[in-house]
Amino acid sequence: METKSDYDVIVIGDGITANSFLLEYSKYATGQKVLQIHEPLLAPPTSMSSTATITLQGVKKGVGALGDILMPAYESICDFIEKEAPDGVTTGLQYHLDKPDGPTYIDLKRRYSVLEEVTKITDELRLIEPCYGKVNKMYFIAPSIYLKWFRDKVSSQKRMNLTKRLEFVVGLDEKNGICQIELKTGEVISADKIFYAGGVYSSLLNFFRPESTARIRPGQFIEFVGVNWGSDSFCLSYLNYNLIYRSIDNRLLIGATNHHDGAFLGHEKELWGLVEEFEKLIGVENLKSNYSWKVVGGLRMKRRKRIPMWGKAPDFNNIYTTLGLYKNGFSLSQLAAVELTKEFIGKDHL
Ligand SMILES: Cc1cc2nc3c(=O)[nH]c(=O)nc-3n(C[C@H](O)[C@H](O)[C@H](O)COP(=O)(O)OP(=O)(O)OC[C@H]3O[C@@H](n4cnc5c(N)ncnc54)[C@H](O)[C@@H]3O)c2cc1C
Repeated sequence: METKSDYDVIVIGDGITANSFLLEYSKYATGQKVLQIHEPLLAPPTSMSSTATITLQGVKKGVGALGDILMPAYESICDFIEKEAPDGVTTGLQYHLDKPDGPTYIDLKRRYSVLEEVTKITDELRLIEPCYGKVNKMYFIAPSIYLKWFRDKVSSQKRMNLTKRLEFVVGLDEKNGICQIELKTGEVISADKIFYAGGVYSSLLNFFRPESTARIRPGQFIEFVGVNWGSDSFCLSYLNYNLIYRSIDNRLLIGATNHHDGAFLGHEKELWGLVEEFEKLIGVENLKSNYSWKVVGGLRMKRRKRIPMWGKAPDFNNIYTTLGLYKNGFSLSQLAAVELTKEFIGKDHL
């Protein structure tokens, strides 16, 4: 006797990965029953504590495995943003800079060979003394506005039958082609296919065979609210740290968003040291007392050589996941969504 699953597809997650997939899948669905499950209190989404910028910053194709993934992913997300014009996105410039006697200047020179002199950042803002480096295009995303746009789009589509539940998943399994999740309440729900878009939590909850080389890396920044420095978003990447001004929601983010592998700021005091460095660079004073602020932190998974993956989870045939999106979840999620949708719908139906 044929056993029928409760759902065609279960998607676990409500971050950028889950929402990108749901939107893409909903374009090709033909009445499938889909259950979306997430639990923001027990598993806070990294997507909401992200600096959420998208840039190529020196990425090249044909040089290494990471570039060969990042380049098409960048093209895919640029194409998506240009065509769909999602809310919460602005474009601006990233200035990757140092002073000639600074500690990262030689690295910059090696990386970009020709460095340009930069003093003016926007009409409102100038560097106190000239710096040298590379200037490139960047997308600046306000995560809460961007994710709301996805959720609204997904809810308004008619091609799939979507149910949403706030629950915590404690187990995943697959037997004889039927997948199952177990909720914290003890309830068991089955589906033909599962997409676990749960970010680092698969690792923290030991859902899949652990990869000995994967690591959980924290990232932190101070977020200042109500900053109005004009209509141009920009990012100053200086001494391997970032200052990001996002005009769309008047946020200023300063922190360990671009640090060398292995190093991270463990203490709020060190973040304030960074704020002082940036204050000196751009000649502003007392950010701490002039704006309301909070420290934001999130977790991200880094795999060997920073290579991400999306597809079948280790040891499963119908349970899929993403691993190691690390610092690039907002860049990679669109390509992952397109490729996973092909797997879920069947290439012939696209
Ligand atoms: C400080 C910092 C700065 C960053 N800057 C950038 C950047 O500039 N650009 C960039 O592209 N990326 C950046 N990243 C990385 C990026 O934010 C992540 O790669 C991305 O947000 C991961 O999204 P996700 O949807 O895969 O996971 P998440 O956003 O973590 O979502 C996981 C979802 O799954 C749910 N979930 C998980 N497990 C369970 C469970 N057992 N039961 C129920 N629900 C569950 C959670 O509730 C959540 O909804 C940064 C990250 C940090 C921390």
